Amino acid sequence: MQRMIRAGLLVLAVSAFASAVPAQTPPKSGGQFAIRAARLIDAKSDTVIFNAVILVEGEKISAVGSGLAIPPGAKVIELGDATLLPGLVDSHTHLLSEMDGTNISLQDIEMLRIVATQSTAERALLGAKLGREDLEAGITTVRDLGNSGVNGDVALRDAIDRGWLPGPRIVASTRALAAQGGQFGRLTPEAQLIIEQEYVTVKGAEAAREAVRQALYDGANCIKVIVNGSPANVTVEEMKAIVDEAHASGVKVAAHAIGDKATRIAAEAGVDSIEHAYVVPDDVLKMMAEKHIFLVPTDGTLQTFEDMSFGERKPSAGEKELFEKRFHGYLEKISGRLQRARKMGVPIAAGSDMYLSMPGRNRGQASLLVYEAYAEAGMKPMEIIQAATRNGAELLGMADRIGTLETGKLADIIAVPGDASKDAKALEHAKFVMKGGVVIKNEK
Ligand SMILES: [Zn+2]
Repeated sequence: MQRMIRAGLLVLAVSAFASAVPAQTPPKSGGQFAIRAARLIDAKSDTVIFNAVILVEGEKISAVGSGLAIPPGAKVIELGDATLLPGLVDSHTHLLSEMDGTNISLQDIEMLRIVATQSTAERALLGAKLGREDLEAGITTVRDLGNSGVNGDVALRDAIDRGWLPGPRIVASTRALAAQGGQFGRLTPEAQLIIEQEYVTVKGAEAAREAVRQALYDGANCIKVIVNGSPANVTVEEMKAIVDEAHASGVKVAAHAIGDKATRIAAEAGVDSIEHAYVVPDDVLKMMAEKHIFLVPTDGTLQTFEDMSFGERKPSAGEKELFEKRFHGYLEKISGRLQRARKMGVPIAAGSDMYLSMPGRNRGQASLLVYEAYAEAGMKPMEIIQAATRNGAELLGMADRIGTLETGKLADIIAVPGDASKDAKALEHAKFVMKGGVVIKNEK
């Protein structure tokens, strides 16, 4: 995470502000821990370590291995028949947004409703709730990609970093950059002002550069671009300017892109990740593999879509059949493109893109369902685990601190019941969560 502070004057102003922040430092990491479990997956190698021990000192891991001696004075956490893993990374979240998914055709209206009725403050408080749910589910880091009001994600990130409330580490994008209309569809001239509450619309390469600089000034530590919005698209010239400006400041770019044209613009411009890419041609996948551009497949299973679409209501057999007919082919295609991407060597980082309410599951629980879609597309449990830990950390530019269980890394550690190398579904049931050496959850 790096915040851009340019002028000396600003440094003074910031440090004056920092000293005015009340002395609520993050919860103290409680000294020394020895965490023991039957298995451990460090996400660095493909092997499982048995009779596993992780030693934690302060906020960091001091040793990882099999049958390590417990130093005197360390607090022992015995987790038994479980698998220890690095804290999960969700590379595509919207913590400041929760929509009703029961009428997908009304999503444009639902977005308008949120922007017109929820202040950024209200959305940041929603983010506090959803962030806590993510953390308790084992997601210790997220990259939050817009739909967060005007810089609400930065406020939430900083509040969590200061220890004001529990939540995951956040890489925040501030408002997404987009062409006219953002993702709202066509609005009346009177309503068009509302777009800027949710998206920064860029018109031309120079405006695109300015938008990146503004985002960095606003506190963004990544840039999100909607390449194919509704109705307009970002051009390749604009995209190249965005990537150039962001990379010059050491900040990565995430591109929402679906279809031949948009994915090609994103890949040609050299973004760091392409989000969704439900439709993407082979030659663009090849370019992604060559340029090491991550695919963040924000996929779902038929069951996920059904649950979100029907909400609390139980559908009739006829409705269910119709729904399945409608979605089956579509989901097969999405699953096929993930298989193609893997075959071509495109790096994969797990991302949920969860922004809809899901009956019977909180945000964290709902976000983990994306792994089931990966499993359906043939990803093996170890591959899913790596996409959800090490690869996410690399994409977020945090590989030096998180993503694997190694000496010197932050103690972001989870434990799931049983053997996670056999079934990635185990990841849905974290019973132990530690973030930065602080125990968040330890269920018997
Ligand atoms: Zn999204």
